[in-house]
Amino acid sequence: MFNEKLVMIPGPTPVVKEIRDEMAREVQAFGDPRFVADFKAVIDGLGKMLNCSGKTFVVAGTGTLAMEMAIANSTKRGDRVLIVSHGFFGDRFVDICKRKGVEADVIRSEWGRIVPVSQIEEQLSRHRYAVMTVTHVDTSTGVCAPIAEIGEMMRKFPDTIYIVDGVCATGAEFEDVDGMNVDILFTGTQKAFGVCPGLLMLWAGKKALARRDALGETIPEYYCDFHKWLPTMDDPFNYFATPAVNLVWALKKSMELIEREGGLKARDVRMRKNALAMQAAFEELGLKALAEPCSRAITLSNLIYPEGIDDARFRSELSGEGVMVAGGLAAYAGKMFRIGHMGNIDVNTGVVVLGAIERTLEKLGQKGKLGAGVAAYLSKMA
Ligand SMILES: *Cc1c(COP(=O)(O)O)cnc(C)c1O
Repeated sequence: MFNEKLVMIPGPTPVVKEIRDEMAREVQAFGDPRFVADFKAVIDGLGKMLNCSGKTFVVAGTGTLAMEMAIANSTKRGDRVLIVSHGFFGDRFVDICKRKGVEADVIRSEWGRIVPVSQIEEQLSRHRYAVMTVTHVDTSTGVCAPIAEIGEMMRKFPDTIYIVDGVCATGAEFEDVDGMNVDILFTGTQKAFGVCPGLLMLWAGKKALARRDALGETIPEYYCDFHKWLPTMDDPFNYFATPAVNLVWALKKSMELIEREGGLKARDVRMRKNALAMQAAFEELGLKALAEPCSRAITLSNLIYPEGIDDARFRSELSGEGVMVAGGLAAYAGKMFRIGHMGNIDVNTGVVVLGAIERTLEKLGQKGKLGAGVAAYLSKMA
């Protein structure tokens, strides 16, 4: 651990050596048949992995660009959309829609809770919505939405495109695009896939592709137009804009690791077990999760400080112990910290992280808990 810091913020997540090594390779021409084959394997493999019978897009850019891409290709000026917001990232859709000239109705939950599916259904019945968006895991609150249940309900609204922001979920919380009736799903490489930041992955089902077609020859956006990318996604030999060659390789390696551990279901099981054990340990240490247990994410925990712990001091001491975590957002700034536990981490990571948190709490005056979190964690991981 000397000179190293564990990146336990909710993205980027730790990047294992096998993946890092791909970033260090000599670059290849994007038309090199070896790279074309690798890129094709990534695009097709991702489509299979998430069970999407439409198209998969792999584009340089972050999760936020994917949010914009989803809205750009499914709405036009004057359309009405419904945004189901469980926090900061749900709200980001409102801003994106405003700039697009799309009318956005928002249903917000109290932070830490989810909007009931019945309430979404009621609102959808009131107007004709072009799109409805839900964040699978909102990183600001640590809340996980029941996207499969919502997808079932959406069968009653065949004219509405169902967009799921999977940026803090995909590759951890199990997802199935066709099976869950999702029209557009997206994520970024730096979260549960455990790759460096820089690529977005977006899955568009048949209904979403038909919606883009219905918007006409061109849309106002250029770089994120599905139609610009489709020839490349069908055959990566076709150039539209330079692919991030090394990131594509890094993503390919990450997909191999996912296959090696048995696929997305196995990954969900592994991260769920780890998350429940981590969460038991946090409770033992007096750190209270913001999200209710029934809708708590497995990818991160949003933990409210016990009385008397200063946020800035806690995070800087913890960083000195070798572990980086993130602060709370909006009303929870200074009151909470956010810790990621997704991607390519294992039980040893959990022990190191909990040990560092215990030492930090001890230093800040919360005495008598050394080893308590680690013990709770290990007994659940046994
Ligand atoms: C991180 C995150 C985003 C934004 O992704 P960037 O890669 O930072 O642009 C969007 N939605 C959710 C749920 C996130 O966790």
